Amino acid sequence: MIKKVATKPLSWLERIFFIDFVRGLKITLKNAFRKTITTHYPYEKITPPKRFRGFFAHKVVDGTEPQPAFQEWVNRYNIQVEYGKSRCVVCLRCKRACPVPQLFEIEGKKLPNGKRVVSVFNMNMLLCTYCGFCVDACPVDCLYQTDIHETASYTRKDFILTLEILEQIGKDWQMRRGNEPDRIWIDDEQRMKLWYENDVKLPKPEGV
Ligand code: SF4
Ligand code: SF4
Repeated sequence: MIKKVATKPLSWLERIFFIDFVRGLKITLKNAFRKTITTHYPYEKITPPKRFRGFFAHKVVDGTEPQPAFQEWVNRYNIQVEYGKSRCVVCLRCKRACPVPQLFEIEGKKLPNGKRVVSVFNMNMLLCTYCGFCVDACPVDCLYQTDIHETASYTRKDFILTLEILEQIGKDWQMRRGNEPDRIWIDDEQRMKLWYENDVKLPKPEGV
């Protein structure tokens, strides 16, 4: 059975002058001339927060490793530590934590002195869901996600992050953003201009 919903009949004034239409138009016109808070990407770009989950990187050995944990893992896996090279101790915890483990290809090699180093570390970004489980699983804070998000490409090979690429991204990221406080939002002038000058009521990040 179809239930009829009672509606208020339009007054003669509303019928003649399209009052509701004019009301709707008023809201449209009011908003049409307001300053927008969206960015005109790709012509206008804002820097993502430091903890953005973009392309991956390897932190390299530079004296900022979490101690004593790093040394303990290095001893446990008998790793040769080299300044400026990946911190990876080839424990495979990232691969085990990943819901798509086949996207990882990780190998270590033995050196003449009996110690080991990571020799292959490939990640196929076409299979990644950017969930971050692998980052959480890394015991030496080696694998992490960066602010790199403009990754579109015409070739599949550009989505394979090799050890060299991961180290390079890591060095670049540490130089650009390593000293920033580890918080979600950053002191980004462009963002502050876009959001706060438009009266968007968001809590300001600490220290800004
Ligand atoms: S972000 Fe998730 S899917 Fe991507 S490599 Fe890490 S664990 Fe795997
Ligand atoms: S969890 Fe970290 S240390 Fe272990 S293999 Fe992955 S990147 Fe290397």
